Amino acid sequence: MLKTLLFDMDDTLCDTRKANAVAEALLSSYVESVFSVDGKGDLFAAAYIKGIYRDWSEEQKSRYWPIIQQQGESAFRLQLIRDLLVELTECEVDVPQADAIQQKFDQDRIDAFDFYPGISEFLAEARKVFTLVVITNGPEFSQIPKVERVKLSEHVDHIIIGGQEPEQKPAKSIFDKALALAGCQAHEAIHVGDSLAADIAGAHNSHITSVWIQHQQPLDAELGLEPHHTLFHPDEIPKLVWDLHGG
Ligand SMILES: [Mg+2]
Repeated sequence: MLKTLLFDMDDTLCDTRKANAVAEALLSSYVESVFSVDGKGDLFAAAYIKGIYRDWSEEQKSRYWPIIQQQGESAFRLQLIRDLLVELTECEVDVPQADAIQQKFDQDRIDAFDFYPGISEFLAEARKVFTLVVITNGPEFSQIPKVERVKLSEHVDHIIIGGQEPEQKPAKSIFDKALALAGCQAHEAIHVGDSLAADIAGAHNSHITSVWIQHQQPLDAELGLEPHHTLFHPDEIPKLVWDLHGG
């Protein structure tokens, strides 16, 4: 019997891509107006987003990983901003200026961050029947403001933030913690997420039924993963859950 629903947050319950796109566009126009670098704002904003998602070149990896380890996420992001501005716009900024840019981006992104339409109503209904647990990967730095923005703790029973745990998804340990919090066995849970490598592989490691939110991603055959259920968009989550519950 299905007792527990485990959910990823970003791009599963919440429209993180949309929030990123809104903040990226605002960052682009901000940089263009402040530094008078017509046409280069888009390049900067796109490179910044890639950077914060750790989509790094080898050179960036050797430069930024030690900064994260020794000084933390915020110091890394400030350095990333300063480096990209020099590289892409030939503008040099000091730390307070970089900090202002970063804070604007974070604020714009958090302002635009929300559940997908219908998800909060679905969670309210589902919570009457199931225990709800969110497992979200990422550092506290980025995940806690998002969790607070949507008041996630009012919508679900437990929230696990990967950056606060010994291991993130797809590690079995983080799914074990979720099952223990919910007081259920693996066969009594499903896990819903959009990342094959983190969510689907993690669910399978723990023998939990997986639900993949595909968005526009191709199924990466190299990973050798077959999700148990595939949905094109999060708006299909309620029907699947109620079908599984009824069936
Ligand atoms: Mg996700």
